[in-house]
Amino acid sequence: MDEKCMAKAYCEQCRDFVDVEIVAAEEITMLDGVPYAYPVHYGVCRHCGGKATPDEILQENQRAFIDAVRAHNGIVSQRVIANIPKRYCIGKRPLSKVLGWGEQTYSRFLDGDVPSRYYSDIIERIGRSPLAYLLVLHSNKEALSKVAFEKSKRASLQFLMSAGSMIERVAAYILARTGSASPLALQKELYYVDGVANAFLGCPLFFERCEAWVRGPVYPQLWKDLDLRNVREESLFGEEVAQEIEDTFSESELVILRAIVTHVACYSPFVLQNITHKESPWLDARAGISNDEASDAEITEDAIKNYFSKIKADYDMQQPSDIGKYMQAMVVRLQEESKL
Ligand SMILES: [Zn+2]
Repeated sequence: MDEKCMAKAYCEQCRDFVDVEIVAAEEITMLDGVPYAYPVHYGVCRHCGGKATPDEILQENQRAFIDAVRAHNGIVSQRVIANIPKRYCIGKRPLSKVLGWGEQTYSRFLDGDVPSRYYSDIIERIGRSPLAYLLVLHSNKEALSKVAFEKSKRASLQFLMSAGSMIERVAAYILARTGSASPLALQKELYYVDGVANAFLGCPLFFERCEAWVRGPVYPQLWKDLDLRNVREESLFGEEVAQEIEDTFSESELVILRAIVTHVACYSPFVLQNITHKESPWLDARAGISNDEASDAEITEDAIKNYFSKIKADYDMQQPSDIGKYMQAMVVRLQEESKL
């Protein structure tokens, strides 16, 4: 906007619509004790020199303030907030209820209210991860009519299958097939998918960073996105969803996924954790780090590929389901060690 731009606005002093000159300035507004500086424009009355700013410019200033607060606090953008109800085919009030919020909360954010970090993180999460949304939707389906639930489920499932990342589709398949919502188990199962894919296909199914956390290998982005602690197992999606997702994988990918569901997911999260603690990818990544020390050390794809190629040869695995032979041997080893 030009500094000398002219417009009309209502002047309180002159009590009339007057010609105003639009000038640029910087505004500083305090919010929760933090000063936010942002560019604004305001109108100056040509008659009395008082402030008289057109409504549309006041709205722009408000948006500039909101942008400044959002940028400073890492708050979800208005674009993402507006996109979610459309993408997942759900009204703003039902969405608010599904998220466990007050009925008007999402509407207020759509209208420009700035969400707190807590709300923003949830919106970011379901905006980034269709699987996260699908889990929340299933967990709170009582909040919706059956028709609204089915409609949103269909839309989010479609989005997951067409635009979701590979690791999310694999995770959705495993959750649907195992019916377990243990985040610890899911992370290990993904890790074995990764390993067996590397050994049998020569490449991973997904390229997400894997880290050597205290309780075993973890894909941190997925860990953050799927808040499984709040998911009740009885509300996990079932067979119907599993079958639909299954169609998005190739036959060779499916052979691997079925092998993991049958021969790895049958062990408790604790056993899986202890097996990964015996394996070189996790051990090497944590070299020099004590057992209970938090670490974000990476387990590289090469480390995974080398290890699983080696055990494929050592255990004479002919097909992915032979991972069962290795798992059994590792369980025996754990049992023997616990007797010592
Ligand atoms: Zn005036």
